[in-house]
Amino acid sequence: MESAPSPKRFGKKPSKSKNCADLHEEQGAVKKHARKTTRQPGPDLRGMRVCLGCREHFLREDLIRVVCDPEGHLLIDRSLKAPGRGAHLCYSQACIEEALKHKAFGRTFKQNIAPMTAQVFRELVIEAIEGRIRDALAIGRRMGQTVSGTDVLERNFSKLCGLVLSTEASASTKEKLEHLAGLNQCPVWRFGENESLGQSQGKAARVAIGITNAALAKRLALEFMRRDRLSVAT
Ligand SMILES: [Zn+2]
Repeated sequence: MESAPSPKRFGKKPSKSKNCADLHEEQGAVKKHARKTTRQPGPDLRGMRVCLGCREHFLREDLIRVVCDPEGHLLIDRSLKAPGRGAHLCYSQACIEEALKHKAFGRTFKQNIAPMTAQVFRELVIEAIEGRIRDALAIGRRMGQTVSGTDVLERNFSKLCGLVLSTEASASTKEKLEHLAGLNQCPVWRFGENESLGQSQGKAARVAIGITNAALAKRLALEFMRRDRLSVAT
């Protein structure tokens, strides 16, 4: 595999808008091909991780990372930096269920795992995603990539790449901001409470936070997509 690496062929980051099934289809095709033609150079899987649910390869940063404490409790590694062995999974309800059903974590960590339902597991993953969203909003504030306060938002709507709207927003505020967002083709994500949004900006309660940086908006869009995919009731 080292003789002819093809990083561009497989190392290319998959589009964030693709769903798990699309990725499986594309990457699964490469994997099957690689198995059958051992004499030819296979895809470069360095830096890739296998999902314990579907067994396909993905970029590390596109997967949930799970670690295990000495007592056998599974923990979600929110920042992908926790020391020790990690297990990986797609942000997919099906892959979570598959891994738990087939006791894949016990085999990966080579120890008895405390029982956990798929629902509890999903909730832990959503908690980790929401933690990353709060971190991103706080860092965005420090980098000058966010604006908040209804008046400031209304004046700056044309500059926004995304709008985080509190789950506590009144119907009239929601309608007004969503209307402005629609006119400016600005995505709106419902998240958090007024108090916690304000805290992330080092301010008093805020009903919405505008994102003025495209890269930050893209990152948030990815996290909200992951959250929404896991939040849908099965
Ligand atoms: Zn998977």
